[in-house]
Amino acid sequence: MSRSQTCVVVGASHAGVQAALSLRKGGWQGDVVLIGAEPQLPYHRPPLSKTLLLQAKGAEDILLKPEAVYARERIDLHLGRTVRAIDRASSQVILDSGEHIEYSKLILATGCRVRPLDLPGSKLAGVHYLRTVDDVQGILDDIPHARNMVVVGGGYIGLEAAASLRKSGLTVTVLEAADRLLARVTGSEVSEFFRQMHEQEGVDVRTNVAVHGFDGVDAVEAVVVDNDQIIPADLVIIGVGVLPNIELANDAGLVTSNGIVVNEFTNTSDYDIYAIGDCASFVSHWYGREVRLESVQNAVDQAKVAAASICGNPVPYTALPWFWSDQYDVKLQTVGLSQGHDQVLIRGDMTGGRSFSAWYFRRGSLIAVDAINDARSYVIGTKLIQAGISPPESMLVDTDCDLRKFLA
Ligand code: FAD
Repeated sequence: MSRSQTCVVVGASHAGVQAALSLRKGGWQGDVVLIGAEPQLPYHRPPLSKTLLLQAKGAEDILLKPEAVYARERIDLHLGRTVRAIDRASSQVILDSGEHIEYSKLILATGCRVRPLDLPGSKLAGVHYLRTVDDVQGILDDIPHARNMVVVGGGYIGLEAAASLRKSGLTVTVLEAADRLLARVTGSEVSEFFRQMHEQEGVDVRTNVAVHGFDGVDAVEAVVVDNDQIIPADLVIIGVGVLPNIELANDAGLVTSNGIVVNEFTNTSDYDIYAIGDCASFVSHWYGREVRLESVQNAVDQAKVAAASICGNPVPYTALPWFWSDQYDVKLQTVGLSQGHDQVLIRGDMTGGRSFSAWYFRRGSLIAVDAINDARSYVIGTKLIQAGISPPESMLVDTDCDLRKFLA
């Protein structure tokens, strides 16, 4: 590996930072250039809707790494800079400043951006999205003048925001277009648990509701829903999903679908260019279908795979997906993907308290587990899925049965 080689990483968040560090750990001797559009030092994104919104932590507390680490690891950090094109013929990236940087290997870690809700009034002051530390600052600036908050979208980010801001004493309404919360990511039993929990905490949860727009003069005053019904709101958070940042790859002629298409080593259709994290789409080792995951675990694990390939020690990406969410006193830990399940078994009492697990099966095989304040089920569920073991129903629903015996 010659000293003159340069690996350029586009996107300085969970995936990009891990890739840069793993390149060094893997022995990459050439230059590492890490380019990120956001001006701040790279930070953990999950706390944005949790401890940062609760004001339990500040932006300075959630840095991925102290600034000194980048210098120590000889990572050439370009922050507040956007790569606007890739010239594959000359192996260069072109920055918004006009600067050209040559690469021998290129890693795209461009992540996602929020899906905009283009409706009347959606540009009014007080209407926010939640993806970046700047977004959180905008929301926090509005909280002292706000009484009624409406969250548009009952996915994880919307529900975490609802939980955090309910604790701040605001009146909170969640509007979801589907017939249940978290419809994209979990089964109906767990959706119902989250609905009831939010209602117990005083949140007004409304499903099957379409938002038509936002009313207000200078700032938002109400959300307009079906039948011209008005819901008072002086703070709105829109959380209706994200779009993968694939345009750079697309324009460069790389294969894309619902993400930048990569193989199990995170190579794109150009073998000198890799894509990792939220922007990458790949055939899951576990589920045999194309997936694009939005989780820190996937971003970090794919970064390690890309770096290992570049350093000459390729290992395929086979990690089982996992995810977590924190709302009120509940920690949800999910392992596997429950989409396509045809049976759900509940272990524990999901009505009496806030600790149980939901086990998802497809054609008799265990494919995923949602564990609510139940770390033990999460850990055992992970091992069982990895081992391809599906405990029988009678034992799974019996909380006196120690599931570890299936792993012996
Ligand atoms: P991103 O974090 O999206 O970073 C991509 C970066 O690339 C961005 O900084 C972007 O500005 C930059 N970029 C894009 N294009 C360019 C360009 N052309 N030039 C330069 N830079 C560019 N996951 C969990 O597992 N658990 C959680 O509890 C959880 N909570 C979350 C809460 C919130 C509020 C949010 C927003 C996300 C949460 N996630 C959670 C998801 C998790 O944060 C993402 O999966 C993770 O950030 C993905 O990392 P990434 O590096 O692939 O992409």
